[in-house]
Amino acid sequence: MKVAIIGAGAAGSFAAVQLKRMAPETEVHIYEAASRPMKKLALTGGGRCNISNSFEGLRSLSEAYPRGERLMKRALKAFSVQDTLSCFEGEGVKFVLQDDHCYFPASQDAMEIVGTLERALSSSGVHIHCGQRLKSLRPSWELLFDNGIKEKADAVLVTTGGAPKGIGFLDGLDIEMVPPVPSLFTFRIKERGLNELMGLVLNAELSIPGTKLRSGGPLLITDWGLSGPAALKLSSYAARYLAENDYRAALSINWLPEEDVPALLAKHQEANSKKLISTGLLPRRLWDYLCRRAGLREDMRWAECGRKGLNRLSAVLTQDSYQIEGRAEFREEFVTCGGVALEEVDFSTLECKKYPGLFFAGEVLDIDAITGGFNLQAAWSTGWMAAKGIFLSGK
Ligand SMILES: Cc1cc2nc3c(=O)[nH]c(=O)nc-3n(C[C@H](O)[C@H](O)[C@H](O)COP(=O)(O)OP(=O)(O)OC[C@H]3O[C@@H](n4cnc5c(N)ncnc54)[C@H](O)[C@@H]3O)c2cc1C
Repeated sequence: MKVAIIGAGAAGSFAAVQLKRMAPETEVHIYEAASRPMKKLALTGGGRCNISNSFEGLRSLSEAYPRGERLMKRALKAFSVQDTLSCFEGEGVKFVLQDDHCYFPASQDAMEIVGTLERALSSSGVHIHCGQRLKSLRPSWELLFDNGIKEKADAVLVTTGGAPKGIGFLDGLDIEMVPPVPSLFTFRIKERGLNELMGLVLNAELSIPGTKLRSGGPLLITDWGLSGPAALKLSSYAARYLAENDYRAALSINWLPEEDVPALLAKHQEANSKKLISTGLLPRRLWDYLCRRAGLREDMRWAECGRKGLNRLSAVLTQDSYQIEGRAEFREEFVTCGGVALEEVDFSTLECKKYPGLFFAGEVLDIDAITGGFNLQAAWSTGWMAAKGIFLSGK
């Protein structure tokens, strides 16, 4: 059996190694458009590779996977985080689990993961053809590359990642595609007072009024708007909504998400009645700014605030309103949501229902996650599933 894998990224390379382990006699070829395999994997996690996540603290899988939750439930059952770590540990890689539940190689070097996969590909006899971009694909599994080379295979696994230009070769097939839009970006907000607070990090909750879209966690104020895990998470949850609204939307910030703010303010006023209102509950620069937004002068004392003043401050602290005016990339670390519609594939093998012999894995599928190692875990788990699906199809 000859298998053609299109794309030597995380999913394609991992699937190739797993397939050779399941069926050593299978001839496995990976065709990669770039000059070398796993270029993106080498850049992951700022060069450290956030390879997975312990999934602790999640109330539901959809918190990590805004799209593809159901398939990921199956994929993680088939090939878990522990299976992933064991695979790499078997090749000598050691991992550390950070307090934020993210797994990184102990070497803190993404090249260790790339090198491990490269050695496994070579020792298992996978043929890698770099600089070969697939241009067209016929259902009898005839492949035509942009350098004119033609190949034929018994099965094809597509792992071309999230970039929409990579999958033009699917145009001739009757496969439903969910239009790709970016996920994981930061928000542009033009508000001088806020922009001047750049560098400040604190826990906050963000929401888009009139929707159920909300996220919480560390928020970083930047000179162009908002970044940090809370903003990136919301960009993922709201990826499609924001794309449809041309990246313009109202945004509400709760600066004290864990508190009963009216009660807290009343208590604070009573305890500090003779002190200036700048004796506050948040970092001084932010507090002064929020008091100004609530119409309270910095030289006022707590006792002078009055009920109306406190109500205004409470509203600003819990529902501070801004306008998102665009998006900015997060250190180029964006992920695409959209891709091959999940209805097109069999959830246990990742084989295309309409075209037996055609499989999909990784970001080319309409699965994407928030930051934290969840996207790579999707690549490992779906890569393994597709390898198993191909193995079973050849039996
Ligand atoms: C800078 C950056 C940092 C990231 N850091 C993390 C992280 O730390 N943790 C995490 O979980 N996720 C991270 N991600 C997301 C993660 O890298 C992706 O979700 C993951 O790489 C997807 O794997 P994949 O194999 O599906 O696609 P990719 O890794 O994108 O691989 C697809 C491959 O297919 C090739 N290809 C495309 N079209 C064709 C074609 N027509 N013919 C032949 N080859 C083709 C491409 O050249 C590419 O090599 C990061 C993303 C970026 C951009």
